Amino acid sequence: MRRVYLDNNATTPLLPEVFEAMRPYFAERFGNASSIHHHGQETRAAVENARESAAELLGCRASEIVFTSGGTEADNLAISGLAKGGDHVITSSIEHHAVLHACRHLDETGSEVTYLPVDGRGLVDPGDVRRALRPDTKLISIMMANNETGVLQPVEEIGRIAAEAGVLFHTDAVQAAGKVATEVVRIGCHALSISGHKMHAPQGVGALYVKKGTRIQPLFYGGRHERSRRAGTENVPGIVALGKAAELAKAALDRGDDKKMAALRDRLEQGILAQVDEAGVNGRGVPRVPSTTNLHFEHIDGEAIVIALDLKGLAVSTGAACSSGAIEPSHVLLAMGLRPDQARASIRFSLGKQTTADDIDFALALVPETIARLRELSPLYKKGTAVI
Ligand code: PLP
Repeated sequence: MRRVYLDNNATTPLLPEVFEAMRPYFAERFGNASSIHHHGQETRAAVENARESAAELLGCRASEIVFTSGGTEADNLAISGLAKGGDHVITSSIEHHAVLHACRHLDETGSEVTYLPVDGRGLVDPGDVRRALRPDTKLISIMMANNETGVLQPVEEIGRIAAEAGVLFHTDAVQAAGKVATEVVRIGCHALSISGHKMHAPQGVGALYVKKGTRIQPLFYGGRHERSRRAGTENVPGIVALGKAAELAKAALDRGDDKKMAALRDRLEQGILAQVDEAGVNGRGVPRVPSTTNLHFEHIDGEAIVIALDLKGLAVSTGAACSSGAIEPSHVLLAMGLRPDQARASIRFSLGKQTTADDIDFALALVPETIARLRELSPLYKKGTAVI
């Protein structure tokens, strides 16, 4: 059966070039990058090379890159490392749980966190950021691109507000890196998180940019790896892969591949909306990463759509998460003002570098008929006389 994968915001497949780059570091190039002999020097050089590539993608110095185990660790390092008990922190209500739950932990340990709302399009108002500032505000953490809707936040404006106020600014760019320009100087941030597996490197590796001169408390203690900012023997194959993926991502952005991806995404979005009534885009009319569209379909259950499409070979995801056995509507979509039933009936389609025009045709052939069939079966839907 043909299978098409449109869930690249969950994870992306390894690019063959990335796999080839990391492969030697599983076997013949196995040295500990801290060893002074040949084997260690070989892996040290590979790690530093990868650091240069990551730095080039972010427009920063190599020494400002701290490799981590992924986006979650990068976010936690930024939040817990830049703020401490007693500090005031500003974040948004639509952050990934890696940021939200790190902030919740700060909240429980003597800090105060302000969770800013978003408007119906999923945007944080920079004016709200300014109004939330207090004399004890230490850190602002606002994501660059939302993982569910792809909506891009006005991070440059927020960066300017942070600079004027003398407050640290962290942005979670896990879903933005490689899809849009992520130059830290333009953003004006002190810390920025990225994750390998969202940009065609493997799961289990990421990085945090930490601006030179910014004091950061490590999450855990051990050796002096990563300039004492992240202890632990380096995941050399993962780091090499992240470096290669960053290099490929930068080259693709320089070529303008993001515009091709946006065109595919727009064709998918418009094609579905032209064929399905009572549907809409979550995050319409605002800048989004080119990979993502999130659509709500009235009178239907998102889980049912995902399962039905999966049975036909199309992998997508819902705007809902399973927590303690119950299907909870997405906190992001609820924060944007969707009703719980609309949030549960939302589907995220996310493209990757491997996505082709044929894949989009495949999805366009499947989605409208699947929605129509499920609506026919749904007790919530009576043609012309919607029950909700
Ligand atoms: N931040 C965002 C916006 C994400 O989408 C994700 C993963 O979905 C993370 C952080 C966590 O990254 P990782 O899976 O590498 O821990």
